[in-house]
Amino acid sequence: MNQDTTKIPQATAKRLPLYYRFIKNLYSSGKQRVSSKELSEAVKVDSATIRRDFSYFGALGKKGYGYNVNYLLSFFRKTLDQDALTKVVLIGVGNLGTAFLNYNFIKNNNTKIEMAFEVDESKVGTQVGDVPVFHLDDLEEKLEDQNIEVAILTVPASSAQNITDRLVSSKVKGILNFTPARLTVPDHIRIHHIDLAVELQSLVYFLKHYSEDDTEM
Ligand code: ATP
Repeated sequence: MNQDTTKIPQATAKRLPLYYRFIKNLYSSGKQRVSSKELSEAVKVDSATIRRDFSYFGALGKKGYGYNVNYLLSFFRKTLDQDALTKVVLIGVGNLGTAFLNYNFIKNNNTKIEMAFEVDESKVGTQVGDVPVFHLDDLEEKLEDQNIEVAILTVPASSAQNITDRLVSSKVKGILNFTPARLTVPDHIRIHHIDLAVELQSLVYFLKHYSEDDTEM
């Protein structure tokens, strides 16, 4: 994110990529304006939240007119730094890691997994989905000559903290943690935890205990 958007609340910032994807589709289909109601139905965020979010971007929708798609698109491109490619590394080429390497993130995003790291010798030296797999021993050396800011962790939970400490010592600024381990990092490192088992369990819990009307999350 660039400087003038640092005041956007974190919850709003998290919705930006969602809005961006939809606005991009609208733009491609030649649509010039969109109402908060249409947006709301498409991205499944209530329209009051959308209006509040958009007011942070300086996008003021007019009653009966909606928002200007061109304006929104250029705002999102700039804010999400769509013209710069963010290089990503992935650590742990197991089932989940392999799926990510085969998944073409760059199709919808400006992120690219440049390389992967492993300790299993049978995987080191191979390529998965065009991404080269290196030995974990070479992590610091490889990260040093690339401008890599983001790491995806798909290793067993037991090795996650140790690898995180090594990433923190390199230039990595953000970590997407798919392990169940709760990791400790210094304040200047951003970490997002995605625990698929917990997410699934929480979905099942909500289905059982909340009715349709009060599942606001
Ligand atoms: P997943 O949990 O992704 O489905 P899996 O069940 O195949 O994977 P895990 O035991 O979770 O296997 O390990 C994921 C991958 O991480 C394996 O390929 C394993 O070799 C690798 N791995 C284990 N320890 C490390 C480490 N310290 N550094 C890098 N990779 C590691």
